[in-house]
Amino acid sequence: MPVPFALPPNTSQETFARFLAEVSQVVGDENITVVEKVEELRDGSYLDQPRTHDPHHIVDQDYFMASAVVCPRSVPDIQAIVHTANEFKIPLWPTSIGRNTGYGGAAPRLRGSVVLDLGRHLNRVLEVNVDGAYAVLEPGVTFADLYQYLVDNGLSDKLWIDVPDLGGGSVLGNTIERGVGYTPYGGKSDHWMMHCGMEVVLPNGELMRTGMGALPKKPGKPDGPLHEDPGNDCWQLFPYGFGPYNDGIFSQGNLGIVTKMGMWLMPNPGGFQSYLITIPREEDLHQAVDIIRPLRLQMVLQNVPTIRHILMDAGCLGTKAHYTSTKGPLDDAEIDAIAKRLNLGRWNFYGALYGPEPARKALWGIIKEAFSAIPGAKFYFPEDIKEKSVLHIRHKTLQGIPTFDELAWVDWVPNGAHLFFSPISKVTGDDAMLQYSVTKKRVREAGLDFIGTFTVGLREMHHIVCIVFDRTDAESKRKAHWLIKTLIDDCAAYGWGEYRTHLALMDQIAGTYNWNNNILMRFNETIKNTLDPKGIIAPGKNGVWPSTYPRSMYKL
Ligand code: ADP
Repeated sequence: MPVPFALPPNTSQETFARFLAEVSQVVGDENITVVEKVEELRDGSYLDQPRTHDPHHIVDQDYFMASAVVCPRSVPDIQAIVHTANEFKIPLWPTSIGRNTGYGGAAPRLRGSVVLDLGRHLNRVLEVNVDGAYAVLEPGVTFADLYQYLVDNGLSDKLWIDVPDLGGGSVLGNTIERGVGYTPYGGKSDHWMMHCGMEVVLPNGELMRTGMGALPKKPGKPDGPLHEDPGNDCWQLFPYGFGPYNDGIFSQGNLGIVTKMGMWLMPNPGGFQSYLITIPREEDLHQAVDIIRPLRLQMVLQNVPTIRHILMDAGCLGTKAHYTSTKGPLDDAEIDAIAKRLNLGRWNFYGALYGPEPARKALWGIIKEAFSAIPGAKFYFPEDIKEKSVLHIRHKTLQGIPTFDELAWVDWVPNGAHLFFSPISKVTGDDAMLQYSVTKKRVREAGLDFIGTFTVGLREMHHIVCIVFDRTDAESKRKAHWLIKTLIDDCAAYGWGEYRTHLALMDQIAGTYNWNNNILMRFNETIKNTLDPKGIIAPGKNGVWPSTYPRSMYKL
């Protein structure tokens, strides 16, 4: 057996070899890759991403590193691997597609964990139900795959999907991480709200179905294997079933490996029109957000719109060097010049109207009138802009057509890599301006340009600050790491917390959610230690460490 460069903690080479030998009996050698040499780590690209480590590393490339990558072929394979991992006390890190870009890729929080690449083989669309407007998916179905499935099966004029900015991630993986989307089914704030029913392999290897899935479709023993048992007819229609609602503990959690998930799809609304409203001055953000709040709450703004900083749009259309020879952070005059050159505002609001034409017209009238209160605001439909523009990209995203164009802003600097800092903000002008100015100040101190966007849920905004750094430059990485650590503490002092984060920051952020002597973490740890006494599923995920791997030993 090859020897991994990074063994799991407290594990001898011999124990690991015995573990792998048993796993090999389950999945075959062809589904096991041992990570033997650091020199062989490749950062790859978005479409060809490694499962071994984080390609956007802000600490040493080999810090968040797998010992081996295993690709189970079926749910029983996963169950068998979980049994074996318990026997040898080997930590597993489940991933679906493993892109998780800006948050750590497929890499494990605990160095030497075995990464489970579920997406290689478990990648079927199990069902699309038109009457119920839902799909049942395995972990390896990407947004692009699901979209293509609807097209190939002549269903895309009936049902729409909801996509994030990039279409290559797993629908299931993104949903359990509570990622956002931009159609009306982007959720009141995220995809999680639109899932319905799950199947999960528990840390002891048992298979569980949540919600209505716990009620057998027909009484008695299943005819075939458990994981192929047809689900209850209402499994994807009513999320809760009966009794305590457990799905939440599997989202951003480490209590199970999710093997199936129901997703609600959006019935074709009968018409669509995307639009852009350019907002000229930096300080107009205040007025814009106060205009947006009531419209969004009333659902006059039907989808999850975004208020994007000019440099995010500029980054989609060119590198920094394309616009300027300035190396350090751009000043206001330079940013204004870029906005002028692109015919955009300092902030740019992308939304869409859904429904038959008379409905869209009525909504557009209200929206236009409200935004006209901002002096100099301008209104565009995609057909009004001839050159390549972000509106043309958003036009697709806002109707659930996957794209890959938003990758471009990562190349704002040479050898670009990125990290997301994602605090939640109230939908008020005061809060948005304060959060913007607090984050922008620190971004400049780190010598970087502020690139960011506010995605507007019904009652909050996910403020996504994109920290772009040069992955080949140790100083650039150090600054990016300093920046995000500092921002977490700055924001916590204002009572702001993040919705999701990179591996390197999980403990720090979990530590800010510390009301009443950390009762939330103590509760999570109690569940973790009870359900997973050997701590084999994703130790350290989102700051939840099992007692077998004490947090203090794995501090960064
Ligand atoms: P994506 O490719 O959509 O970005 P990933 O597959 O990388 O998503 O998943 C993101 C994170 O979600 C993983 O790092 C892991 O922590 C968790 N995760 C993904 N899939 C599963 C799963 N099937 N079961 C449990 N946790 C998962």
